Amino acid sequence: MRFLVAIFTLVFVSTNSLATETDAARRPQYPLKQERRIYTEDRLKVAEGNIAKFQTAKAIADKEISRASDWLGWEDEDLLKLIQPPNIPRAFNVGTDGCPKCGKEIYEVGGTYPWKLDIKNPLKVECPICGGVFPDEDHPDPGRGWVGPNDHKYWFIAYANHWNFQNTVLPAVRYLARAYLLTGDPKYAHKSAVLLYRAAEVYPGLDYHSQSRYGELQEKNGSRYEGKFLNHIWETTVLHMLAESYDSVWDTIDEDENLQELVGKSGEEIRGFIEANLLEEGIESVFAKKISGNYG
Ligand SMILES: [Zn+2]
Repeated sequence: MRFLVAIFTLVFVSTNSLATETDAARRPQYPLKQERRIYTEDRLKVAEGNIAKFQTAKAIADKEISRASDWLGWEDEDLLKLIQPPNIPRAFNVGTDGCPKCGKEIYEVGGTYPWKLDIKNPLKVECPICGGVFPDEDHPDPGRGWVGPNDHKYWFIAYANHWNFQNTVLPAVRYLARAYLLTGDPKYAHKSAVLLYRAAEVYPGLDYHSQSRYGELQEKNGSRYEGKFLNHIWETTVLHMLAESYDSVWDTIDEDENLQELVGKSGEEIRGFIEANLLEEGIESVFAKKISGNYG
């Protein structure tokens, strides 16, 4: 049996490149969702009324729609590539030594998280002082960091992955979902659903302890540091934003033929996939303390 599972895994991995990190895709354990629960029709009517009546409410809505619109120009295939597989680590710091060329001066110029990022080049960091882009030929990073002359690691790729996800991709999922709620235009929901599908593909395989700089540091101390994409505290925001976005765009998936063609599943299968691999995996991770906010 174990052998058969291994064969199946190999076939699965080789026939679907996007699924390589989720050879254990989950199936729903609960009946699928039946209605939108967070932004109900009543709440949307209140929002509509406020937007018509108050300039400040309209400004908030316009900003959300404008931010979402920035993502409409992205091809679906390129959006899928923005959420990295679990084996690409995460790190909220490159290290403690600053830039390999400029040293710790980078913190004086750029603060605690000083590196410049470019979502079009999502696994690179740029020093705001020397303009060096890392990793480069002299500072190769296979994923878990380049080892500097003093044996300290520089986690360029993991830092870029972490902050591009937390500050750019994750907010985009929700800008798009909220723009759909505010406009009723399914083009926003589609882009959000593409990212949600991709998040569901990687979510069960995410294990912060074994896939992060901080996990590695804690392991050396004989301790653990749990989480999923991000650490267990910040992950609360990840699951919250993704679950809210799914609730918002849920009603478009059965009509979204482009999405169904993109991932090779029916609308119902896509909903089941996201609910099992993102929502059910997420709530189990809460009970397993892999997602656990600060107390108070
Ligand atoms: Zn530098």
